[in-house]
Amino acid sequence: MNLTRIAVVGAAGRMGREVVRAALEDESFELAGGVVEPEAPELGADLGELCSYGKAGVAATAAPPEDADVLVEFTTPDATVEHLAYGRPVVIGTTGLSDEQLTRVEEAAKSVPIVLAPNMSVGVSLIREVVRELSGKLGAGYDVEIVESHHRNKVDAPSGTALLLARAAAEGRGRKLDEVAVFGREGQAPREEGEIGIHALRGGAVVGEHRVIFYSEGEEVKVAHRALSRRTFAAGALRAARFVAGVEPGLYSMRDVLA
Ligand code: NAD
Repeated sequence: MNLTRIAVVGAAGRMGREVVRAALEDESFELAGGVVEPEAPELGADLGELCSYGKAGVAATAAPPEDADVLVEFTTPDATVEHLAYGRPVVIGTTGLSDEQLTRVEEAAKSVPIVLAPNMSVGVSLIREVVRELSGKLGAGYDVEIVESHHRNKVDAPSGTALLLARAAAEGRGRKLDEVAVFGREGQAPREEGEIGIHALRGGAVVGEHRVIFYSEGEEVKVAHRALSRRTFAAGALRAARFVAGVEPGLYSMRDVLA
């Protein structure tokens, strides 16, 4: 079997731990390393113990090992852009990147393969296509509203997934999201035709929930996705890691990974 040597950047975080564990449990991967912040209390800790898998014999470090085939990054936008300097094939799961930061990722992808995926689940990749098609077929007479819910510690709002679904809905109608997006409503805010409303709820331990709703005068069409466990994102991240280890430089999405 061809082993993929993987290093997880952000290994002490919620997603990082989940990816470390998934890699340890998958025989087609070898855990090469895990990167934590230089001042993190987890520095030097056994990565297997960090994710409650049991001793793995691989310690958390402040930089990835030279021999990792691929990096998987779940950190913050600033850290993600800084880590492009590693110049290695990478799967980026971090969300909330600004336009300028996205441009930096595009630049880096000219010399290394990068998968940029604000949502790694297979289900979300598929409903994105459904939303694009529904939006086009139902047409501008149907008002689109997107509602997402996440745990209380999520930093960016709306979620990268809500933006991805909103973009798909806009594309289905031949529109640009920037022209039609309305983020929450407050005060005097009558709905304009063609608007796509995007709303974020935050609380408790919700892993991730997205609803895209199309309203007309006479019906309501709803597309919904609920992540039941971070495991679904970790599985997608490993799939993307295997993909990115074997392709030419370029910027790829989950659609490419799943094709
Ligand atoms: P988290 O806060 O639990 O973990 C982030 C980790 O990154 C922390 O441990 C932090 O110490 C670490 N970190 C920050 N800067 C670092 C650096 N320079 N070097 C090494 N480590 C560094 O957050 P989380 O819930 O794991 O989410 C992380 C990111 O992934 C967020 O942007 C989130 O929205 C995104 N996310 C994406 C998906 C997806 O499917 N693409 C799924 C869930 C979460």
